[in-house]
Amino acid sequence: MQLPLISKNEPSIRRVFIKVYYSKHNGWPYNHIEHWPPMTYKDRGLPTPEKILNFIELLNTENNDNQSKELQPWLPFCEGKCSFCYFTINCEKDYVIPYILALKKVLNSYSKTNYVRSSIFNELYIGGGSPSVISNEEIVDLLEFCRANFNLNSDHITKFTACTTNLSLEKIKTLSSNNISQLDIGIQTFNDSIRKNLLIRDSGRDAKEKLRLAKKNGLQISIDLLYNLPGQTLDQWLDDIKQAIELEVESVDCYPLDLYPDTTLAKKISTGEIPPINNQEIELKMYLEAYKIFKNNGYHPTCHNRFSRIREDFRKPASEVIGTGAGFFMGHINRFLYSDEEDIQKYILAAENDIFPIARLTNLSKEDEMRKAMMLIYIRVPVNRTSFKREFGKFPEQMFPRTLEKLSKEGLIEVQNGNIQLTEKGDPWRFNIAWEFFNK
Ligand code: SF4
Repeated sequence: MQLPLISKNEPSIRRVFIKVYYSKHNGWPYNHIEHWPPMTYKDRGLPTPEKILNFIELLNTENNDNQSKELQPWLPFCEGKCSFCYFTINCEKDYVIPYILALKKVLNSYSKTNYVRSSIFNELYIGGGSPSVISNEEIVDLLEFCRANFNLNSDHITKFTACTTNLSLEKIKTLSSNNISQLDIGIQTFNDSIRKNLLIRDSGRDAKEKLRLAKKNGLQISIDLLYNLPGQTLDQWLDDIKQAIELEVESVDCYPLDLYPDTTLAKKISTGEIPPINNQEIELKMYLEAYKIFKNNGYHPTCHNRFSRIREDFRKPASEVIGTGAGFFMGHINRFLYSDEEDIQKYILAAENDIFPIARLTNLSKEDEMRKAMMLIYIRVPVNRTSFKREFGKFPEQMFPRTLEKLSKEGLIEVQNGNIQLTEKGDPWRFNIAWEFFNK
């Protein structure tokens, strides 16, 4: 496969989302809470000819890194669009068959490269969208395809993104009998009046039934909950947490709502049809309450936004994510970060023409790689000073003296046994802390 030609008409990536600034509060180390770290898909550039050439050259080399890796096929389909959702998703069932053909073709092309042939994967993650909308046969076929064409460890784990509206008992049984270890499910809230505002298609009670059914059939459950939703009170948020704990889900990703201007939700709030979201003081209070309650119930903070009781969630995350799909944005191969075409038709067309459907590509400099290594702090993984020096030739404090001194003085990070790590005080500010290494 080739890489895409650069389109001069490529729309500039939408970085605009509603951000409310407040004057600095007493006791706050920053005047607002960041929700995103640096180096996301929002910051990636177009694939220049030089970057494309370097990427192809890299794919022709062997992968000598023996750290954990993730394979991430992406299915952008959903039954309907939730009002807050800013992902590019597709609700047209007619595209499923041609898309899966295209997806398998691109996956196959990656699998034939020297780099991927010499890579061992510890995790298969079927992301999206709501991949559970496709048929049982299509699910089994995709899983078998991935397992046959990539070097997945014999004890690899497989996670699957699902939506409760299409989790029938038959589908749950299919997933469970095909070695899916964990379902990742966007619940957002159990509260029916808020679910209605979010255009979520089933009731909180029905969603809970599906979670129970999946657990009964041996699947681990990780759910997403959103907080600081329009009109949501602290009590309603605490009730969502309580219900998640009562259901004994294995982990909960808690995200503050990010309101994007083009979403149905933002438009309805601007016309007064739906109440506005609270300020960041309340948002912080909601987070701190969640932190306390989850910890008291045996769930510990890990990853970007997760409270978990799954042992594997506390391991160092995958060093590379090799994946593809319309709207896939987590690509990380060696020093390259990439995201694919969002438009499903463009994605299929690229695959049909033997072109890797990459729309954004960043080639990390050595300095970027050092910054990225420091960002482990924000996903609650300690940065070992000695390992950092072994990899980059300098200790972190030689590379980022002022930043580390400032964060340490503020009590947001600490050094323990040669590891630089987040403190409990720093935890709500972890995304702000990540930005400190990037001179935003
Ligand atoms: S189910 Fe998830 S991906 Fe699909 S529209 Fe809703 S929030 Fe977006």
